[in-house]
Amino acid sequence: MGSSNEGGRLFFQSETFETTKRNRRKPSGRFIQEPARSLPVHTECDVLVVGGGPAGTAAAISAARAGADVVLIERYNHLGGLSTGGLVIWIDRMTDWQGNHVIRGFAEELLSRLKPEMIAGPGRHEWGSRDPNRVAYWALRTAAYHDTVTYSPTLDPEWLKAESLAMVLEAGVHPIFHAWGARPLVEGDRVTGCIFESKQGRRAVLAKVTIDASGDGDILAGAGSDFETEVDARDIHGCMNTAWMFAGVDMDAFLRFRAEMPDEYGEFMARGREALRFFERPVVSWRNDVALFMGPRLAGYSALDVEDLSEVEIRSHQLMLEHLAFYRRHAPGFSGAHLMVSAPQLGVRHGRRLIGTARLTRDMWDGRVAPDEIGVSPSLSPKFANVSIPYGALVPGRTGGLLAPGRHLSCDAGSHSFMREIPQCWLTGQAAGAAAALAADHGIEPAAVPIAELRSRLARQGVFLNPLAAEKPAGELDAKGLAGCSDDATVRA
Ligand SMILES: Cc1cc2nc3c(=O)[nH]c(=O)nc-3n(C[C@H](O)[C@H](O)[C@H](O)COP(=O)(O)OP(=O)(O)OC[C@H]3O[C@@H](n4cnc5c(N)ncnc54)[C@H](O)[C@@H]3O)c2cc1C
Repeated sequence: MGSSNEGGRLFFQSETFETTKRNRRKPSGRFIQEPARSLPVHTECDVLVVGGGPAGTAAAISAARAGADVVLIERYNHLGGLSTGGLVIWIDRMTDWQGNHVIRGFAEELLSRLKPEMIAGPGRHEWGSRDPNRVAYWALRTAAYHDTVTYSPTLDPEWLKAESLAMVLEAGVHPIFHAWGARPLVEGDRVTGCIFESKQGRRAVLAKVTIDASGDGDILAGAGSDFETEVDARDIHGCMNTAWMFAGVDMDAFLRFRAEMPDEYGEFMARGREALRFFERPVVSWRNDVALFMGPRLAGYSALDVEDLSEVEIRSHQLMLEHLAFYRRHAPGFSGAHLMVSAPQLGVRHGRRLIGTARLTRDMWDGRVAPDEIGVSPSLSPKFANVSIPYGALVPGRTGGLLAPGRHLSCDAGSHSFMREIPQCWLTGQAAGAAAALAADHGIEPAAVPIAELRSRLARQGVFLNPLAAEKPAGELDAKGLAGCSDDATVRA
């Protein structure tokens, strides 16, 4: 994936496809009144997490481990969100450009539970390597950019679901599946829980702190928190598509074709574009016989418009069949390909972004350390320093009782390009869970959580943190438990 800097904004050069919308029903313009009614309170808890994706799973586990009574509601039947149900099985970079492992904590723990046959990627000894042979090998396999080998593996989504569920249950979280968080309960300017829809109708969960981990900011928007949303057809950020996987392939054969026969590969891609117009190339998975397609990326649709969501589903599924026929016929390694699965969850990159008490913006990619840092993200390219993530990016400005980690956190669109990635969502989810437990325990608002206490808790959970100016010298930090920084040197390649 290449990138360019246009007018201060980073646009990705991944291929995107703008389409003409069709199949739309026009609103009739009429309204009806929904009668008021009493709702049963399904349960009460310290911390309610809405959404069981990467952010929600990490948040629930982190809060429960901190002693909170935690309920998690999820509209589907599994945990992992887009990383499992969306077949986004390529976990983006957790190392920086020097090979340091900076996204750790929950991410490290979860991935360490996967056996070698469930996850594929470079070993620790290769992270940060600039050996041209290793870079060439991993560049074809999701794990080398800018001439550097990175820790960005692919994995088996079913095992990620299984291990996420095991961790949630081990931590004592109470998950409720098939429950759609419909509307936050708001008293004054505080969220006090959420109404969910299920086969039992509408029910309420009351909570001291609610964590919106829906990815699209459903709860924060319902609570009246400020947010921003845009449909930018020029940017991958605004694209949607349903991913799929083909089985029965030989990806090594396809990758040899791509690397060793560049002219023929170029002709193949041109022919595919001509035949299908919207054409995508496969990505490796954790197995040689399974190919992943995370596009074609359909541009110009809104993740907040149900007619758009429906149309993207229809077009993606049609494109899957067209790709199967084309690849079987023309792509080396694909003659025996067959449909394995289309993603149960639609791939949405952006719906809403919170406007929080802090906002992660492009000018903060210069290596500065946020005074309320809750984790560190690798930067987009070696010309930028690691990015320090402020706690305030999860905290709604005007709404109490609520936190919003994951891909709807508070940032500009350029920063969203990496802050929406799975490891970053694990990171912000883990921080939100720890903060929510602290707030519930101390009887305070999430915005008032003592940062030193939060950071010390995160460090004990293995999160990598920069020392803050106020906390120096680093030796003292280690003594306080900010251990995530201390053994980092050992993971340099
Ligand atoms: C096509 C595509 C390709 C991508 N490629 C990569 C990649 O290569 N590497 C990478 O690291 N990242 C990638 N991403 C980004 C990444 O997958 C997501 O941004 C990340 O999963 C977001 O995590 P999240 O927990 O914030 O939200 P989600 O993963 O969206 O999870 C939200 C969860 O909440 C549930 N939910 C939503 N609303 C409600 C509700 N109202 N009530 C109850 N439950 C609800 C959903 O069912 C879901 O389980 C990609 C994304 C897409 C779409």
